[in-house]
Amino acid sequence: MILGVIADDFTGATDIASMLVRGGMRTIQVIGVPQGPLPPADAVVIALKSRTTPAAEAIAESLAALACLRKHGAKQIFFKYCSTFDSTAAGNIGPVAEALLAALGSDLSIACPAFPENGRTIYRGHLFVGDQLLSDSGMRQHPLTPMTESNLVKVLQQQSSGQVGLLPYSTVAQGVAAIQAGYQQLRHNGVRLAIVDAISDQDLQDIANASVDLPLLTGGSGIALGLPAAYAAKGWLRPSANADQLDPLTGPAAVLSGSCSLATNAQVQHWLTAGRPAFRIQPQALAADAAVAAQALAWASTQTQAVLIYATTSPAEVQAIQAELGVAAAGELVERCLAEIAIGLVAAGIQRLVVAGGETSGAVVQALQVNQLRIGAAIAPGVPWTQAADRPLLLALKSGNFGTVDFFSHALQLTE
Ligand code: ADP
Repeated sequence: MILGVIADDFTGATDIASMLVRGGMRTIQVIGVPQGPLPPADAVVIALKSRTTPAAEAIAESLAALACLRKHGAKQIFFKYCSTFDSTAAGNIGPVAEALLAALGSDLSIACPAFPENGRTIYRGHLFVGDQLLSDSGMRQHPLTPMTESNLVKVLQQQSSGQVGLLPYSTVAQGVAAIQAGYQQLRHNGVRLAIVDAISDQDLQDIANASVDLPLLTGGSGIALGLPAAYAAKGWLRPSANADQLDPLTGPAAVLSGSCSLATNAQVQHWLTAGRPAFRIQPQALAADAAVAAQALAWASTQTQAVLIYATTSPAEVQAIQAELGVAAAGELVERCLAEIAIGLVAAGIQRLVVAGGETSGAVVQALQVNQLRIGAAIAPGVPWTQAADRPLLLALKSGNFGTVDFFSHALQLTE
């Protein structure tokens, strides 16, 4: 293993895994800290659910993940979080990064969530989302991690006990040697965590090349774009042309959708408009204890083409259902039902399963007891096909806002 990644959420883990595969690294994603052996891979990504848990829990889980990755020989560790730095003053990025740094006996790490391809750039320590400062973007209103400060040096300093500094764009733009000299200067100034400016893919490549000898990197998946080439230059990696190759499984297919995002609503509508088979799940029926999962499975067993089973609905209807059943209860009812349907579909021989929704994907993967995924080719940026390591099952796990309107049929086509 060259790189061991600790990701603070599930779909973020898949996102960085997809980036590494794109660079020719054979990559495995595991859900939670693995207890048993790991198959050979260039990179292992451990998906935690530590973004918004209490800091002490996030630290303990991250240190357990670190111990596992080190035991399996990781040469470098990457702490992955969101490219919009979803983390308030009381967030976990600083505490976890500092704990990892201390455990690795290292004196300096970087924090670089830049992802220019997705419009996330950092200049003078300030994070931009497209043309807007982070604090003017939609992230301002995020339900769990509202970002009202764009200066990441300030945000990270509020979370950290050690000193936080900045490696400014004027240095990054001068290339690898200047960046490394910048790290020396930061060390000299007592900085433990440095926000690193980056506005282009070339910047990310230079930062990766300059950072291969840092025991710990932290950031979004953007910076992982430069790592495979940096490892190849160092002689650690022979990039594989078929790192994204999964088993050619072409058996029956299904789509499960529990996301109610705008993008997923459009994707469901696109499937319905094409006249493809679909079964709708109504939370009210679940609350009334109807055998909805059994009905859905019985219906699916009569279909000859790929099916869509969905609870996806408009924001207004979600609100009405939540008012009636309660937010958490409505979500749980739907997640449990879709998870039960996933078990039934796989038992009936489904080999290709597309799941829409971050929480929904988590519930499905947990119910199927899948704990290792091989990462394949990207369907959309950040969403690869994956394969359960222990059985002939392909999974495409899409977080709400990803993918174009034809995502479901496009994903299935790629496996045909
Ligand atoms: P996203 O990635 O779009 O946020 P998630 O799966 O993470 O999607 O979250 C969607 C949540 O909404 C899940 O908890 C799901 O069970 C719930 N949900 C799905 N359909 C409905 C519905 N019709 N009414 C209420 N809640 C729903």
